[in-house]
Amino acid sequence: MCSATEKSLNPLVKLIQKVLQENDPSLKVVFAVGAGISTSAGIPDFRSPKTGLYHNLSKLNLPYPEAVFDIDFFAKNPKPFNLLCNELYPGKFLPTKFHYLIKLFHDKNLLKRCYTQNIDNLERLAGLPDDKVVEAHGSFVKNHCIKCHEELSIKEFRSFLVKDEIPKCSKCKNYVKPDIVFFGEALPHEFFDKWDEDLSDGIDVCIVAGTSLQVYPFATLPGETPDSTWRILINREKCGDFEMNSRKKDLVLLGDADEIASMLIKQLGWEDDLNKLLENGRALLKENKLTLFKDEELIVETAEERSKELAKEIAEVETAEEKKPIEEDKNVTELLGEIEKLDIGSKNDNANKDSKGKDNEEKNIKEKDAEDKKR
Ligand SMILES: [Zn+2]
Repeated sequence: MCSATEKSLNPLVKLIQKVLQENDPSLKVVFAVGAGISTSAGIPDFRSPKTGLYHNLSKLNLPYPEAVFDIDFFAKNPKPFNLLCNELYPGKFLPTKFHYLIKLFHDKNLLKRCYTQNIDNLERLAGLPDDKVVEAHGSFVKNHCIKCHEELSIKEFRSFLVKDEIPKCSKCKNYVKPDIVFFGEALPHEFFDKWDEDLSDGIDVCIVAGTSLQVYPFATLPGETPDSTWRILINREKCGDFEMNSRKKDLVLLGDADEIASMLIKQLGWEDDLNKLLENGRALLKENKLTLFKDEELIVETAEERSKELAKEIAEVETAEEKKPIEEDKNVTELLGEIEKLDIGSKNDNANKDSKGKDNEEKNIKEKDAEDKKR
């Protein structure tokens, strides 16, 4: 089968352009993604026999590779999972172009939801807010005791990992694991709830990417969308419902997820936006700030660091000023003259209508409801 070309992307590009031109925020785009969008980030693929994670884990004398995700095995021997946890812990990998493509859909007010099978949290690290991501197989965002289900904060959980210790419950001293779905565990109810909600609200475009649609119930999602939905498959091969029940409004784009994301971004003229996101992501990764910590925690940490940096900068400026020759004042006058000539006033201040506050509020209420239900 031939791979995707710029021309084959045309229908999707035209659709998005039309919606954006008409300034119509009602287009509801849903992404359903899998491991294929994360491989270029360097996340090891679970299933590939040679390079995959299971293969590397074979060094740990597991009774069978999948035991690392077996809850009974974990209760007896949490070490292999902990090792894997350390290896995969969010903050070591930069989101891929494809993750940033999803973020751009969000920024352009086109994203309804992103359903992911991945546990790498790269969707969140690319900047998607909590209410836009549904991690079907769980994630590292929360951690609970396997016995009494007491929550352990990300910060506490991390502090165990950093010391190479197995995270333990502060209440009952049993092991704690992230809310990643293990074999035999149920999928988060959020997955089913949000999907029902999105289906009843309507889905205009469903973009399925980087998945061969082999893992259920996730694999059923594209087939459950109504016939009116545009379905786009971005994958190395045709698969699942796209193969077995192809529809008139299907668009199959075969190839590498990142390459297709690049083509799409180019055709939509979103390259500058992508570059800004990539730059920002790289800077955060370099400073170890590409984390799942809640903003407040991060601010406390960075505020301390920042105040130290500032003190250092001030000291440096003071020393430099003492040594500064008088002639430099002339440069400053010249520069100020140049700045005055700049036409800054015409710059369009595109204030971002941020609904984050409201979203978070809603989310908190929903989370509280869910927790109440659990009790
Ligand atoms: Zn406990």
